[in-house]
Amino acid sequence: MPTTPAYAAPSARAALGPFTVERREPRPHDVLIDILYCGVCHSDIHQARDEWGGATFPMVPGHEIVGKVSRVGSAVTTFKAGDTVGVGCFVDSCRECPQCLQGEEQYCDQGMVDTYNSHDRDGQPTYGGYSTRITVDSKYVLRIPEGIPLERAAPLLCAGITTYSPLRRFGLKAGDALAVVGLGGLGHMAVKLGKALGAEVTVLSTSPSKREGALALGATHFAATSDKATFKTLANKFDFVLDTVSAPHDYNAYLRLLKTDGTMILVGAPEAPTPVAAFSLIGRRRRLVGSLIGGIRETQEMLDFCAKHQVASDVEVIPIQHINDAYERMLKGDVRYRFVVDTASLNAK
Ligand code: NAP
Ligand code: ZN
Ligand code: ZN
Repeated sequence: MPTTPAYAAPSARAALGPFTVERREPRPHDVLIDILYCGVCHSDIHQARDEWGGATFPMVPGHEIVGKVSRVGSAVTTFKAGDTVGVGCFVDSCRECPQCLQGEEQYCDQGMVDTYNSHDRDGQPTYGGYSTRITVDSKYVLRIPEGIPLERAAPLLCAGITTYSPLRRFGLKAGDALAVVGLGGLGHMAVKLGKALGAEVTVLSTSPSKREGALALGATHFAATSDKATFKTLANKFDFVLDTVSAPHDYNAYLRLLKTDGTMILVGAPEAPTPVAAFSLIGRRRRLVGSLIGGIRETQEMLDFCAKHQVASDVEVIPIQHINDAYERMLKGDVRYRFVVDTASLNAK
């Protein structure tokens, strides 16, 4: 059985440290992947700290995985050794329910098998990408197109698809006014993808120091949420608000920025609920919706879109030994804009 050095959280809120994982021998439909890079998503922090409840330990986080195929099972025809591939937030699903049949496996009636902090269909715990190898059914493996540097491709597997999917699904079109709330990993991808889809993008941030960076990413406007006067002028101005914020905050303040029939999309997943006032919605027939990552087919579409439009994540590559510090920095909003682990560091003595 292939073993892999990894980093794990031994229990909720404990620091992550070295760990070893056994990966299964490739079955006929499996692909064994040598992991090169793994992005660090805020969901890794929520789960390693058990902020959403139900976490299982030891936990090896990581669901923004890019690597090279090292071996394939006997029935695999879609990948071969040496291919550059990606794995996102899930590695299996029931394959039979209406959502799975439509290629929206993330909404599987049986629950998708998350890449980590989950159990596979044989009941074995799943371990994520803070490791050097992973075995995944080829149906749940993505092809990384040429032209995107691999460390900058990794965050597309979660931050990219999570922002791309709802913008497409809810119909963002060229010329629409899009506000992106929170300029972290998801937020910076929303700015780039929104711009590539032709929208005029405004960033709303708690960090005034992110103004120049937001404009450099392609935003047309920036407003610090502490600047109440500017914030007031933005009322009823947006077709879409995409909220990527990781901590509880007041949704009503952002709903009021929507035009009539505008849509606010929640992708940020704070641990605690927040009240929504009916009057934030009914006065202008506004919509409040949520969205979870994207299916395999749409994730491949997003990767190909990114290659075509030269969209990639802005990353800070770190050795795994810096992961606990990286979590602390993300909690302070101090990341431009995604940490990515170079998994070669897992082999360091
Ligand atoms: P991140 O890189 O840490 O970015 C979150 C940003 O939110 C921060 O950079 C900060 O931006 C802003 N923020 C943080 N605390 C805030 C507060 N109290 N009030 C207002 N703004 C605050 O996180 P991420 O990886 O982008 O993930 C963001 C959220 O999306 C997490 O909750 C994550 O679990 C969730 N997520 C959901 C999905 C899905 O499928 N729906 C997928 C992936 C992640 P500013 O400094 O600009 O204010
Ligand atoms: Zn994620
Ligand atoms: Zn299903």
